Amino acid sequence: MNIVLLGAPGAGKGTQAQELVAEYGVAHISTGDLLRSAVKAGTKLGVEAQKYMSAGQLVPDQLVIDLVKERMAQPDAQKGFILDGFPRNTAQAETLDAELDAMGVKLDAALLVDVPFDVIVKRLSSRRTCRNCGYTAPAGVDVCPNCGGEMYQRDDDKPETIQHRLDTYQQQTEPLISYYKDHGILVTVDGNRPVADVYADVKKGLGL
Ligand code: AMP
Repeated sequence: MNIVLLGAPGAGKGTQAQELVAEYGVAHISTGDLLRSAVKAGTKLGVEAQKYMSAGQLVPDQLVIDLVKERMAQPDAQKGFILDGFPRNTAQAETLDAELDAMGVKLDAALLVDVPFDVIVKRLSSRRTCRNCGYTAPAGVDVCPNCGGEMYQRDDDKPETIQHRLDTYQQQTEPLISYYKDHGILVTVDGNRPVADVYADVKKGLGL
């Protein structure tokens, strides 16, 4: 299984990815998680990336592409992967196609988790994230149900940054829906329902 997850920030891509990873053992490659780890570790890339992330803008393509290539070369990704948060624009999608071609690997599907924008805004403003494992839950959950880590509000989930992220999504990432539709691999699920119902549709849509 080699898939790309599409959908606005807060649509539930990470949650659906975690379900697929738990059931099928594929690698979850989240560029947001990789970038946040680099920021936390204070690497050169992390320091550079943080300027864009805290403004709700996309990090320059080459930085992200290098991170993804490095991650995809790891042993666990050879069984299959779920790309979450990548590609984020057409240039990244074209680079991914070229890299996968060179590796002789095929994308099985681009899975769009579709959620109306008004619901997204509410979800993001009340979202809390585990500092340790990245698990997300609504405000009020202080201890991570997955690993016991501390839940916090991401800086870019604060109201002033949410609108920038959604604008960036509409301008740069939404065109990928047509891109993958034209490639004949787009699968859309209604993400505005309980996690288990969305997951049942994800599996159906992916033929699992
Ligand atoms: P996410 O956790 O996917 O919402 O990503 C958080 C932030 O990381 C985004 O708002 C961007 O600043 C940056 N980011 C994540 N993935 C990418 C990507 N593929 N290209 C550029 N920037 C990214």
